[in-house]
Amino acid sequence: MTGMTVPDNILQPFQLENHAAQGRLVRLGDAMHCVLTAHDYPAEVARLLGEVQVIASLMSGTLKFDGVLSIQLKGEGPVSMVLVDVTTDGDMRGYARFDSKKLEAISQHEANGPQQDVPRLLGNGYFALTVDQGPDTQPYQGVVSLEGATLAECAHSYLRQSAQLEAALKVVVSQVDDEDDEKGSTWRGGGIMVQKSAFSGFQSIDGEASDADFEDAWRRAVIFLGSSTNDELLDPSLHPHDFLFRLFSEDGVRAFDPSPFAMKCRCSADRVQNVLVSFPREEIESMKIGEDVVVTCEFCNVDYRFDADHINTIFKESASG
Ligand SMILES: [Zn+2]
Repeated sequence: MTGMTVPDNILQPFQLENHAAQGRLVRLGDAMHCVLTAHDYPAEVARLLGEVQVIASLMSGTLKFDGVLSIQLKGEGPVSMVLVDVTTDGDMRGYARFDSKKLEAISQHEANGPQQDVPRLLGNGYFALTVDQGPDTQPYQGVVSLEGATLAECAHSYLRQSAQLEAALKVVVSQVDDEDDEKGSTWRGGGIMVQKSAFSGFQSIDGEASDADFEDAWRRAVIFLGSSTNDELLDPSLHPHDFLFRLFSEDGVRAFDPSPFAMKCRCSADRVQNVLVSFPREEIESMKIGEDVVVTCEFCNVDYRFDADHINTIFKESASG
C-alpha cells in the first residue's frame, strides 16, 4: 500500500451488496484537531466536542439537506453546551462551554473515559438537531432528551425517535501520537453508521428474498459494525475501502465517492457588526477593551476589533437605515 494516499477528513458512503443496509464511515484528522485546539479545553471536554463532530458528520450524510446542519447539546452538568455545525460543502466548526470548577470537582473522584460521558459531563438536558436551508425555508428541528450513557447512544435514540431510522453507529475520538512528524499528539475522530434499507431492494444470495433473510442480513450488518475496533476507526494509515471490505467481507460492500470535511468558520466582520447593532448602545460600551470594542468568535477564537469611530458609524447607519 506504500505510495497510495489514504484519504482523511472525509465522509465515505457505502452500501452492502445485498442492499440490506447502507452506511457511512467518517474520519476526521485536521478538521477535528483544529476545532478542538481553537480553545484551551480540558481533554474530556475536547473529546465530547469531537464526538459531536463525528456524529454531525455521520448525520450530514444521512439526512439530505442543502444548507447547514447543526447539533446542539445542552446540559446542567459541568459542560453546559456543545454546538457543532456542518454545511453541505463540508465546512465544519464547533465549540463547547464548560465550568472549570464543576469539572474539577467531578474529575477528582471519577475515572476518565467516554463510557459515562453524558450523565457525568452533561447531566440532564437535550440533544437538538437543526437543519437550516436558507432564509426562505422553514428550519427543521428534532429534539430528544439526553438519555443514554454515551453520545453515540443519544444519537441512536435521536435517529430512532426523530428521524425514524433503524440504525447502529459507533463513535470514537482520541489523541493519537504522530509517528513521523513533530506535531506531538493530535486529535482524531472516527465513526461508522449503518441504517436499514427498505426490504424492496433486498437481494438474497439464492435469489429468493424472504423477510427472515432480510432481518438476518440486517442483524449481520449491525454485528459487523460492532466488531470494528477503535484502532481501526482512528488509524490514519488504514484506507477506508480496505477497512470496509474487511469489515463486511461476508456480505460484500460497495464504496461510493467520498466527500471532504474541513474546519472552516463562517464568521466575518460584517456578521459581527450586524450582531453588535442589535445590542443597546450602553451594552456596547461595556464590551470595550481599552478604546476598542473586541468581539471574539466562540467558534474559531478570532478577535474582531472595532474602534470608537467605527462603532459610531455603524450605529448611525443602523439608526438611519
Ligand atoms: Zn469564527
